[in-house]
Amino acid sequence: MTPVPPSSSKDAASVAPSAWSPDSWRGRVEAQRIEYPDAESVARSVAKLRSLPPLVTSWEIERLKSEIADAQEGKRFVLQGGDCAETLDDCTPGAITNKLKILMQMSLALVHGGRKPVVRIGRFAGQYAKPRSSPVETRTVGGVPVTLPSYFGDLVNGAAFTPESRRPDPHLLVRAYQHAAMTLNFIRALTEGGFADIHHPEYWDLSFMRHASLPADLRAQYEQMTRSLADGLRFMEVLGEARIEELTRVEFFTSHEGLSLLYESAQTRTVPRREGHYNLSTHLPWVGERTRQIDGAHVEYFRGIRNPVGIKIGPGTRAEDVRELVDVLNPTGERGKIVLITRLGAGKAGERLAAFVDALRDAASPVLWVCDPMHGNTVSTASGLKTRSFDAIRGELETTYDTLRSHGAHLGGIHVELTGEDVTECVGGATDITEETLHTNYASLCDPRLNYHQALELAFVLARRLSQDGAGGKK
Ligand code: PEP
Ligand code: MN
Repeated sequence: MTPVPPSSSKDAASVAPSAWSPDSWRGRVEAQRIEYPDAESVARSVAKLRSLPPLVTSWEIERLKSEIADAQEGKRFVLQGGDCAETLDDCTPGAITNKLKILMQMSLALVHGGRKPVVRIGRFAGQYAKPRSSPVETRTVGGVPVTLPSYFGDLVNGAAFTPESRRPDPHLLVRAYQHAAMTLNFIRALTEGGFADIHHPEYWDLSFMRHASLPADLRAQYEQMTRSLADGLRFMEVLGEARIEELTRVEFFTSHEGLSLLYESAQTRTVPRREGHYNLSTHLPWVGERTRQIDGAHVEYFRGIRNPVGIKIGPGTRAEDVRELVDVLNPTGERGKIVLITRLGAGKAGERLAAFVDALRDAASPVLWVCDPMHGNTVSTASGLKTRSFDAIRGELETTYDTLRSHGAHLGGIHVELTGEDVTECVGGATDITEETLHTNYASLCDPRLNYHQALELAFVLARRLSQDGAGGKK
């Protein structure tokens, strides 16, 4: 298939597709660009980042790509989840293990329902940069309106509403890298030490959430699932199944939005005995809804890396734009390369998805359809808190599942904002959090996340769907 060049713009004309380099994005218009006050200090931080070791390896990235290729064929299912915005303060053993636990428990439900391996991908170890709808925020302080730069995530500035904290600080590029490294180091130590294997009760029982009451029917279902999975594994062990090691080893991949091109490109490198450049700061970077302009800096950067890439697709996206993005980011039609993360809103998902599937029917590139049922369903309460309703989230997930199936495609994964903590940020679900009780433990600095119960409940909804469809929706 012929590679499709990015659509031309005045700037793009001077940058032919063949001229890609980790820094060729600098010639393009950069959405969400951060204006740092001190260019020299930025250059020093970027030079430091370039000199530091990578966080992940090309082998891991290629393994993830081949697992995504399996998922594109319906042989695996992807679970991607974590905070909207990771914070440096949240780099604690408790917060990290709670995130791993909820992802593991959700994946157990999905393995059980779909009868296929689940690829676990955290929104962690680098999810520190946030796109914002406005570059500034105005609050009333002491009766007067004060306008400061918005909070762009801990990679850029601080959340506290003071001029010092909100000033973009290039040292944070390095501090975020260091916290990503510490997070990943801990995750690797836990998983590679066998702590997180399926036999380890610590991860699979629900006692760590004793302080929060799990509805009895969910608890019973979960316990039954854990028992039957453990029985199955023991049975296979007795039979001496060769793949038992592989089946029980729990692996986590990392992902984050590739928003700060300074950060991403400083960690983008060639490696011995492989072709091309890898972004070695994460396994799966994704390009966000606000930065995926076809001739913009982000798409220019993303088209040259060897990693699998996610593309967020919102309800305003035209079907031909989806097609063009897929063609530009995967001109050779490589398997496992493109993950389309749709976030359309419960009301629009059906109609938009049908058009997208049609537009991609004869594309060279296979895609993995992943549903992000969070970002199209954000609303503000009367008191100004951002929230999402569990019913809308569930509705978008089910509509996405059904629409893909009825159009000859299949849902290959789910992308959720969640936390292992007992927060009150989304309304509804079996816990029945209401607008009135949202303030009880609203901890997110950015978007509202599913709490532990809601996340597990959503996994059960999906698991049931997968099991009803036998082969898990493979079509
Ligand atoms: C996000 O994933 O937190 C995000 C900002 O998503 P989107 O780009 O889809 O709005
Ligand atoms: Mn978000």
